[in-house]
Amino acid sequence: MRSWWWLLLVGVTLAASAAAEGRRVGDPGVSQPPGTAADGVPTPTRDRRQTAASATWFDVDERRDPTWDPGPLPRWIEHHSLPRDTIEAVALRYGVSARDLRRWNGMSPRGRLHPSRPEPLRVRARRLPPPRERLIHIAREGDTWDLLGRRYGVFDRHLQAWNKDQIGWTLEPGERVSVWIEPMIHDAARNEGPAAGRAALIPAGAHSLGTPQSGRLVAGVQVPPGEGYERRYPNSTWGTTFAVRHLVLTLDEFRQTSGYLGTLMLGSMSFRRGGRIGPHVSHQAGRDIDIRLPVRAGFPASQPATHKHLDWDATWKLILAFARSGAVQVIFLDYAVQRELVHRARRNGVSEPQLRELFQFPAGRHANRGLVRHSPGHEGHIHVRYACGPFEPTCGD
Ligand SMILES: [Zn+2]
Repeated sequence: MRSWWWLLLVGVTLAASAAAEGRRVGDPGVSQPPGTAADGVPTPTRDRRQTAASATWFDVDERRDPTWDPGPLPRWIEHHSLPRDTIEAVALRYGVSARDLRRWNGMSPRGRLHPSRPEPLRVRARRLPPPRERLIHIAREGDTWDLLGRRYGVFDRHLQAWNKDQIGWTLEPGERVSVWIEPMIHDAARNEGPAAGRAALIPAGAHSLGTPQSGRLVAGVQVPPGEGYERRYPNSTWGTTFAVRHLVLTLDEFRQTSGYLGTLMLGSMSFRRGGRIGPHVSHQAGRDIDIRLPVRAGFPASQPATHKHLDWDATWKLILAFARSGAVQVIFLDYAVQRELVHRARRNGVSEPQLRELFQFPAGRHANRGLVRHSPGHEGHIHVRYACGPFEPTCGD
């Protein structure tokens, strides 16, 4: 893993000839009282500068900050906005509503932050992820915004916006690129969902910015090709690290244990940078994926599954595999299909408590119950929505 340097004293000049690796520095461009970091919250009790002074080099793998203590919440803090911050993302970050955030800052109900010179915001924070930290990356031959975005787990378009005043839109070797990293994502990357089997090959750092209905995907990772399934739309099979790692494990487990010999058809997840996909309302933040229900042998690969061609046993096992992953927030499936699955499961001796935990049926298609919920248009496929990963500060519902 790369080495990192910590700023020993505010204002130290970094030698431009140093290895072209990222080093975290304080932020000379943001006025802040001593002892605060970029988002205007106190630095943790274990002062990083002191630690740096005694040890000099840090391996980021070992530096996931277990001492980060947000202190008593809720409380008022000042958020130091960066170019491209949005009210919605800031609200998610601190667990508050966009409406309150605007109200606290005297903004109109639809008010926005200035895209390149955003104002600081007063926030009554209900949660407090570690503040973003700036690191300086010295550009090398072959570096692109996209590459750096993936490497540091930041949105490439944000990276451009943070740097355009200093270095313009194109990246030349030797240029000093400011990268505002999320320590939570960066340092916790290794704990971002399972990392066994093929999941271990999925890069860390991909996360949601916003909600499935109105969000983006930062440093997205793609569902890899694999046995037992086919990606119908490879361009839209990108997701968060947490979701894709779990998905790959569940697909592999299903293939190994279900006895299903057919090929699962994966539909859309998200585009590489998220955002709207055709007619879908959600699928915008890398957490949703459509999967055609398992069908009986001989059914054409390209057709939507129909009730009478379903492989009910495999469908049951598929839903169970997703449920067991513990990473899924909700699965959308038509109510009539749920009914059939529940009847069959009962006949096979599945317990009532387990059925209640899994299905909304028979409580009614609007009932707030069960992992599997009715949603119109989901007769032939399930729509699996993954939860936010445990270290995603701007992921929301
Ligand atoms: Zn869907």
